Amino acid sequence: MEILVCVKRVPDTAENEIKINSDGTDIERDDLVYSVNEWDNYAVEEAIQIRDRVGGAVTVATIGDKDSEEILRREMAMGADKGILISDDAFEGSDGKGISKILAAEVKKGKYDLILTGAQADDGAGQIGGMLAAILDLPYASIVNKIETVDSKKIKVGREVEGGNQEMNEIEMPCVLSIQTGINEPRYVGIRGIRKVASIEIPVHKAKDLGVDAASVGAAGAKVKRVDYFVPPAGKGADIIEGSAEEKADKLIELLKAKGGIK
Ligand SMILES: Cc1cc2nc3c(=O)[nH]c(=O)nc-3n(C[C@H](O)[C@H](O)[C@H](O)COP(=O)(O)OP(=O)(O)OC[C@H]3O[C@@H](n4cnc5c(N)ncnc54)[C@H](O)[C@@H]3O)c2cc1C
Repeated sequence: MEILVCVKRVPDTAENEIKINSDGTDIERDDLVYSVNEWDNYAVEEAIQIRDRVGGAVTVATIGDKDSEEILRREMAMGADKGILISDDAFEGSDGKGISKILAAEVKKGKYDLILTGAQADDGAGQIGGMLAAILDLPYASIVNKIETVDSKKIKVGREVEGGNQEMNEIEMPCVLSIQTGINEPRYVGIRGIRKVASIEIPVHKAKDLGVDAASVGAAGAKVKRVDYFVPPAGKGADIIEGSAEEKADKLIELLKAKGGIK
């Protein structure tokens, strides 16, 4: 089975203190530590497990700049067979539809049975999987938390629905699935694994290689404009505890005692 997993390089929330930039249109991106989007890591692990069961190959692709190569190598160290960097100045400033169009062009260049995205990424729109499927006119299942292989034409996918209930669907391939965290336990990637793939050449696909009209993507083609980005004011009933870590811990204990949470 040929599987393509779309992966995104995102700021690592465990490693950064996220601040809004001065004009309030984005977060401050200087000196951030980046990593692979958590949902995408689950999607890659799932793809590797499917390949190991039924054969085939896993390709990871990302739209980004040169720095995004590092997440492709990480996912290759994890077990993906190939990486593709999709990069062009014309892609800068794309909105979700632009990103989906570019990914759709990449899918058409290959012969994939299964295309996986994360259920969401750092911008949190959760839109790429669905738009990608619509552009490609392929069946789609979102927030998938279980995959069972059926045969070379169909797979069975599970989704957690309202109230913690589970549904199972049979879906014809080729298809697009957006993967939910918790579907598996992504394997650990050690430094030795990273070293092993360090010198593998990663092809770069530009707008012209993909037959993408530069005017239809990037800032030129974006019809969604982010106009503001802010931390909402603390609402009534919210206590923001200030101070050093030690002071915060002491104040939290006092607060919990005062409210009867602990004695
Ligand atoms: C007006 C506007 C301008 C923007 N300008 C920029 C910009 O200059 N630079 C920039 O980096 N972003 C930019 N963005 C954000 C960029 O468009 C987002 O990557 C895209 O909208 C996806 O949003 P998301 O993170 O909410 O993805 P979701 O839909 O939540 O992501 C779901 C999944 O889609 C896949 N995916 C998402 N993004 C990528 C990617 N880049 N490569 C491969 N797979 C991917 C992953 O599998 C991911 O798990 C801009 C957005 C807007 C609205």
